Amino acid sequence: MARFAGDDDPRFGLIGDEGGVATVAVLKGDPLYAGIEFTGEKIPLDDVRLLAPVIPRSKVVCVGKNYAAHAAEMGSAAPTEPLLFLKPNTSVIGPGEPIFYPEQSNEVHFEGELAVVIGRICRDISPTDAPKVIFGYTIANDVTARDLQAADGQWTRAKGFDSFCPLGPWIETDLDTEAVSVRTELNGELKQDGNTRDLIHRIPDLIAHISSIMTLLPGDVVLTGTPEGVGPMEVGDDVSVTIEGIGTLSNRVVDRG
Ligand code: ZN
Repeated sequence: MARFAGDDDPRFGLIGDEGGVATVAVLKGDPLYAGIEFTGEKIPLDDVRLLAPVIPRSKVVCVGKNYAAHAAEMGSAAPTEPLLFLKPNTSVIGPGEPIFYPEQSNEVHFEGELAVVIGRICRDISPTDAPKVIFGYTIANDVTARDLQAADGQWTRAKGFDSFCPLGPWIETDLDTEAVSVRTELNGELKQDGNTRDLIHRIPDLIAHISSIMTLLPGDVVLTGTPEGVGPMEVGDDVSVTIEGIGTLSNRVVDRG
């Protein structure tokens, strides 16, 4: 499912194939809230400007240190319970949009992650029922000001700057997440090469845990954690996160100016 720029408001569509050409079959509304009803219009994918596939109405819930090798590179043990934090919905940007390097930081890192998009309002969901409340999956870059994360002792500022949550390029509604590769490239150089089979807390358990604390709403996004290999980005760098079965999310780091 893609969300793309329209004349006035964003439009929504399903990505398909028309004689070997990727197309977007336009929908009447946001399928997260309106269900799936086609307008009949089809547009070549190359002709649309993709936006973040979802702008959460309430929250981006993130899981820290959910791959053992990443916890180790951060100098800590993996937590026994999922370690949660939030990013504000104002940090979300789409594919191709700039990540702004903030003045307050001198060390901004990429964190490529599989993201879960919630499709139904839910609370106290069991792991068994978790698939019923998942709309689909997309790619996230949990951009982090690593120096501020250390300095502040909690993560709101380090993780919460505008543009620090690229999402996209679209939502894959049919994905087996048991073992998909999560790769991050910086200027074409492979930096992270993880696989979701190494997730400590699995997606159904994460949904159960999070929904035992807070109600999840349609359009909320859960970032499942980053594999090892995180590192700094500089102004002018191109960062791409590729997840098997979804696609590639690319963004450039720019000076706030
Ligand atoms: Zn992260």
